[in-house]
Amino acid sequence: MPWAAIVKSPADRAVVPNLDDYARVRAAFSWPAARAELGGLPGGRGLNIAYEAVDRHAAGPRRDQVALRWLGKDGEVRDLTYGRLRTLTNRFANVLRSLGVGRGDRVYTLAGRMPELYVAALGTLKNRSVFCPLFSAFGPEPIRARMTIGQARVLVTTEALYRRKVADLRAALPDLEHVLLVGDRRRPTGVPGTRDYHGLTAAAADAFEIGPTDPEDPALLHFTSGTTGTPKGAVHVHDAVVAHHITGRYALDLRPGDVFWCTADPGWVTGTSYGIVAPLTNGVTSIVDEAEFDAARWYAILQDQGVSVWYTAPTAIRMLMKAGTELARTYDFGALRFLASVGEPLNPEAVVWSREAFGHPFHDNWWQTETGGIMIANFAAMDIRPGSMGRPLPGVEAAIVRKIAADRVEVVEAPDVQGELALRPGWPSMFRAYWGEEARYRTCFAGGWYLTGDLARRDRDGYFWFVGRADDVIKTSGHLIGPFEVESVLLEHPAVAEAGVIGKPDPVALEVVKAFVSLKDGYEPTPELRRELLAFARTRLGAAVAPKEIEFKPALPRTRSGKIMRRLLKARELGLPEGDTSTLEESA
Ligand code: ATP
Ligand code: MG
Repeated sequence: MPWAAIVKSPADRAVVPNLDDYARVRAAFSWPAARAELGGLPGGRGLNIAYEAVDRHAAGPRRDQVALRWLGKDGEVRDLTYGRLRTLTNRFANVLRSLGVGRGDRVYTLAGRMPELYVAALGTLKNRSVFCPLFSAFGPEPIRARMTIGQARVLVTTEALYRRKVADLRAALPDLEHVLLVGDRRRPTGVPGTRDYHGLTAAAADAFEIGPTDPEDPALLHFTSGTTGTPKGAVHVHDAVVAHHITGRYALDLRPGDVFWCTADPGWVTGTSYGIVAPLTNGVTSIVDEAEFDAARWYAILQDQGVSVWYTAPTAIRMLMKAGTELARTYDFGALRFLASVGEPLNPEAVVWSREAFGHPFHDNWWQTETGGIMIANFAAMDIRPGSMGRPLPGVEAAIVRKIAADRVEVVEAPDVQGELALRPGWPSMFRAYWGEEARYRTCFAGGWYLTGDLARRDRDGYFWFVGRADDVIKTSGHLIGPFEVESVLLEHPAVAEAGVIGKPDPVALEVVKAFVSLKDGYEPTPELRRELLAFARTRLGAAVAPKEIEFKPALPRTRSGKIMRRLLKARELGLPEGDTSTLEESA
């Protein structure tokens, strides 16, 4: 797509990026050297995520620096320093130990973004148990399904969520032995069959020695977003911390003392890898906002907290764009230095807009629950090609491949050819299993590559361009069309807030391109506007690629992590069963 590159200005480079020279850093990089930087548990007793995130700093000059700043919905602010976080996570680990919960046992959380969730996550890792966060807006069925798959032994949740969603499930969860309820600190929760989180942690000892941790010990169980089907439980090990740390430093440009805000909920992998682990290993102050999206609130947080590095998602960026540039202009974002986005393709329009609104462009990066950390990124030191995901991280080998047999692939060497995005296994945060689904795990690998299920192309300078998920690609009259390209063009029209594009079966063309569009405030879904959009897309994309049909929708179906569910648009269009909708946002 011929968008002009965003060339970094001297102001953009006023602070020399951690990754200042891509070619040089990449050539010199090795995972063993990166691992050696973290040091590991004292006495050579292995590598533990929570030790690297908390204890290493708590024992050094960062002890009194704020590690987590929690912003409550109602204006309350709670600061946890690295030192305090060490004590609280030690206590939680002691609680688990006293309950007989040990190495490898699964500890689940079902909670909004509250301090206890962060403490439970890190305390679980100290105890060498496996942490599995569930998104708090899940209903009883998705909760039951995920707890059954991972055989949850412990659940940390709130009194209200327990009563509403879990109490009736207990009989169906035979492995669940302990439920710890976070209630009002002033009185014990006292719900039958549960224990009081605050009572237990207050009585626990402040000191905890982390046991020997094999870097290959399972640490995290993360369910995928369910965009393309039933969510899968990806297993990550303690060694993943090496990738969290390095990618935080190189792809997000984190440095000690930064004020960092990752807007993702820990119910999704981004909210753990970059909402908990990477910021802490990198010694930053991490902002946690309990409230849901609100444009004015978000701008006020960026301004008032002096956020220097911000990591968010395209769906939020599109909502900010919808709220208008004027609103953004009333705030001072003087502390902001680096902006990054993940989760869905970032439309070029959004990259260009962000520079107007914030003075800095968003840097798109690509990864998945399965990869555990950022794999391809636009780096601070690089000029941005809007619409591109950027280049592979140091230590990450990415390629475009074509599958030629069940266990063989062919690497596409020529530039600008579309194929499946593949990664060479070996980076530390690669998933080690889909919990309980060995066969499904194995089908992700062929010919020495991990196949991502995403289609992309690489240009001659090594930048990767997202085309679409393999399942979403449209086959029409002998062409393969990625929905992203069509959606991005529709988004250039001033009336369009969001677009989702599918292939609709057609007797002649195999499939035709159909677009679902939601409009910005102030625009009406009239036949004239539909004709205008069809013509607008045809002029830019050509008749072969442009949508043949456009349908207006007040909103598009999205996952709770903010991804457009094209498979649902398609199922509804064709009157087919909707499949797994456990991650669908309620309003959709
Ligand atoms: P499921 O695997 O259950 O269908 P999911 O793939 O949406 O759900 P995640 O692991 O949360 O679950 O999301 C990873 C996917 O999100 C990637 O495979 C890709 O399709 C998409 N994605 C993430 N970042 C980007 C990006 N920067 N550009 C384009 N797509 C992205
Ligand atoms: Mg996926």
